[in-house]
Amino acid sequence: MNKIEHIGIAVKNLKESNTLFGKLFGEPHYKIEEVASEGVNTSFFKVGENKIELLEATKPDSPIAKFLEKKGEGIHHIAFDVTDIEAEITRLKSEGFKVINETPKKGADNKLVAFLHPKTSNGVLIELCQEIKSEIKK
Ligand code: ZN
Repeated sequence: MNKIEHIGIAVKNLKESNTLFGKLFGEPHYKIEEVASEGVNTSFFKVGENKIELLEATKPDSPIAKFLEKKGEGIHHIAFDVTDIEAEITRLKSEGFKVINETPKKGADNKLVAFLHPKTSNGVLIELCQEIKSEIKK
């Protein structure tokens, strides 16, 4: 794993939290993106070299809605940047980690993502992300 890519925070109301975190960081979010397949609306903040992602549920059966119901607002996941997500999934599986997405999927912020189940990582939901490189790049 290369570095922490971002930290994800589950919020009830993205609009209100965008204002709140904008005040906290002294700078507004730089983008909002819906990931319809996951039932989430996300916003991203830059804090120096780091990124914070806020996540709001867009439907009642969204994983974020379930998280909020069970645990309330707060830190939801830590995302790590990886160079080769498929190799990392294979490696982590062989180390005994439970992988939620055996096949990486398209996440927010132009990334391929896969999650590890918090059960096998001391209660921490881990997201692996690999930047999607444009295939027509020369
Ligand atoms: Zn994330």
